[in-house]
Amino acid sequence: MITLPPRAQMLSAFLASDSSAEGIFFVGVKTTGIFCRPTCPARKPKPENVEFFATPEDALLGGFRPCKRCRPMDAIRPTPTLVDQSHESPSGFRDAFATTFGRPPSQARSADCLLARWIETPLGTMLALADDAGLHLLDFLDRKGLERKIHAIRDTLGRAIVPGDNPHLDATEAGLAAYFAGSRLTFDIPLIPLGSEWQRTVWDHLHTIPPGETKSYSRMADELGRPTASRAIGNANGLNYLAIVIPCHRVIRSDGSLCGYGGGVWRKQWLLDHERAHAPFRLRDVNP
Ligand SMILES: [Zn+2]
Repeated sequence: MITLPPRAQMLSAFLASDSSAEGIFFVGVKTTGIFCRPTCPARKPKPENVEFFATPEDALLGGFRPCKRCRPMDAIRPTPTLVDQSHESPSGFRDAFATTFGRPPSQARSADCLLARWIETPLGTMLALADDAGLHLLDFLDRKGLERKIHAIRDTLGRAIVPGDNPHLDATEAGLAAYFAGSRLTFDIPLIPLGSEWQRTVWDHLHTIPPGETKSYSRMADELGRPTASRAIGNANGLNYLAIVIPCHRVIRSDGSLCGYGGGVWRKQWLLDHERAHAPFRLRDVNP
């Protein structure tokens, strides 16, 4: 199942040639019969002439031909922007892997390394890093600042990162499948987020917000005994290394607006809608 973001958000991402939208949707232009990537350098058509598709195949089935400028058939998967914009295929990305992640010493045992896995989700590809102790990172591959987080983990732990298998990666992949299917919205994986004591305090507190509910930054600040710390809480949320499993997406402004999200506000909206639709029934929902 592939879910498209709301039309208004796709339209603004398309008009802004937002590279984080790459691979998330494709754009058919009714007046020309051509379909493009969101970042196509060609002149943008009028919004009323635009149609959105989740995959190039859907656009082809809709009667559109691929654009010769942005070549939307070349990137069926989300184009990872993590390492190098010119790597248009996952295999190209994997070749470039060592540049960012570091090559393990030839004699390294896998126990000396952090293990990486790419996990496909309806909201795009995620990257997970784990070792025997637990999960160190989970985030969307196109997220701004992801490379910086990978470097921080690699440099702090002094360990190379290599693709591999690990029980915590299996649990993460299974947990995400259950999460996106709506059958289980919480995770039971040991988490090892890299951060200051304050950041870890904020992240721990996020677990007090059950799926299907939200909390404002100011209420978080009150509950943590730091009533003026709303902004610091926002900053800690932005530095969350474990998207979805540490539910920073459940924090919103007191006026109900979503505010920012590293993976894109449309993803935050999607996650909150999804959790509201699938959260376990609670008596207090009908008996406040
Ligand atoms: Zn194009």
